[in-house]
Amino acid sequence: MALFAFDNSYARLPERFHVRMPPTPVAAPRLVRVNHGLAALLGVDAAALESPEGVAVLAGNAVPEGAEPLAQAYAGHQFGGFVPQLGDGRAILLGEVVGRDGVRRDVQLKGSGPTPFSRRGDGRAALGPVLREYIVSEAMFALGIPTTRSLAAVTTGEAVYRETALPGAVLTRVAASHLRVGTFQYFAARQDVEGLRTLADYAIARHYPALREAAEPHRAFLGAVVEAQAGLVAQWLLVGFIHGVMNTDNCTISGETIDYGPCAFMDAYDPKTVFSSIDAYGRYAYANQPGIAHWNLTRLAETLLPLLAPEQEPAIEIAKAELARFAPTFEAAWHAGLRRKLGFLEAREEDLALAEDLLARMQENEADFTLTFRALAGAAEGPAGDAAVQALFRDPAAWEAWALGWRARLAEEATAPAARAAAMRAASPAIIPRNHQVEAAIAAAVEREDLRPFEALLDAVAWPFEDRPGLEDYTLPPKPEERVLQTFCGT
Ligand code: AMP
Ligand code: MG
Ligand code: MG
Repeated sequence: MALFAFDNSYARLPERFHVRMPPTPVAAPRLVRVNHGLAALLGVDAAALESPEGVAVLAGNAVPEGAEPLAQAYAGHQFGGFVPQLGDGRAILLGEVVGRDGVRRDVQLKGSGPTPFSRRGDGRAALGPVLREYIVSEAMFALGIPTTRSLAAVTTGEAVYRETALPGAVLTRVAASHLRVGTFQYFAARQDVEGLRTLADYAIARHYPALREAAEPHRAFLGAVVEAQAGLVAQWLLVGFIHGVMNTDNCTISGETIDYGPCAFMDAYDPKTVFSSIDAYGRYAYANQPGIAHWNLTRLAETLLPLLAPEQEPAIEIAKAELARFAPTFEAAWHAGLRRKLGFLEAREEDLALAEDLLARMQENEADFTLTFRALAGAAEGPAGDAAVQALFRDPAAWEAWALGWRARLAEEATAPAARAAAMRAASPAIIPRNHQVEAAIAAAVEREDLRPFEALLDAVAWPFEDRPGLEDYTLPPKPEERVLQTFCGT
């Protein structure tokens, strides 16, 4: 039986959408891990993936039956500067499978060798960034945030040369698709309106099929992507996630988080937080993410102008109207999320001010983002929970003053304290993949070939909303000597 039941819709698009080519074989593939839950969802036999034949496929040494391997063409704005041709420089799309849930997904090898899009790159990935992407993408999935996922990781038996020689690896990435804002920019930059139309219709059929019946499908499509991205970024902010490289080629049409490079979760709350070593000006800082997403979507809107029915209304006005969906969608999701985190079931005018006041006090007191909201659930059950929150603030009085107003607001709702606390815990995880834990797991794997910390961290982040005994270490922020100040680009 074939490993994957491939049905490759992207490969059926015109030849200028991609370059057909197989992955480049590696010297000595070794399995790091297969994601059994995801394999089951895809209808793939995990044991077969773990067999030598399966590992050969995951490493790019064998092309599985039914695959039509190709590198996708795309462009993109990188840190604000437009690059008319990027493309898969180190990834090969093997094909698509329709999962048990009826969803079509791409199966892509990342780190699978050079392509015509590689420019000066080697087409490869190092083990550290592969493990980082595996951990963080699976953590995001467990948090309920739309994301690409990780089906498998293998090492290649080859070194990749960055500042030093590092072990090479290949990640098998699974995504609703790899269509990006940059895919549209690729055709727009070539003034290829037919290509754009083909791409837009493909994206609609794949991600927003109901819009085929809309009066103006391309307009509705723009609005749908704007809403998907606005909702996504709100979810990032609600868990303290910083993507790190929100270039337009890393901004999906599906609304999934993609491309986990120098991403990280914040520990102490500070809206200016930046981790990425390549983000010198803080363009992609935590609090800038909604504005950047809107900027990226504006670039998408520009590419769609030739498709937006100009005979009724100027295309630019249509684009502006659809982009205007961003702010209300983002705010609705952000405010609803903050309410859940504060334990309010009903919506009141003053709620946002209360939330903002808490965030300001957290910032001033260097309170840990994740722990503060998690401990707040305990405080909602009764004053016995106060001490745990207070301990997170440099000045405990800063919290006490805020808690007076919060308790008064809680008292306006009849919810039972235990039920409220449970709802709060379902909105504020105990466990996120903290940067120092991710780095420790990577160091063990890379420096000592010890995968146990990686496996243990994956297990810890898989049930983020539970208080599981024995996992307390994973809930803690870094000690001063464990603090990670910078993350390096996913190469
Ligand atoms: P990213 O920063 O990961 O979004 O990648 C931006 C572009 O650089 C994409 O076109 C990638 O395919 C390409 N790229 C990144 N790393 C490499 C590499 N090691 N070799 C070749 N191309 C790469
Ligand atoms: Mg990318
Ligand atoms: Mg990348």
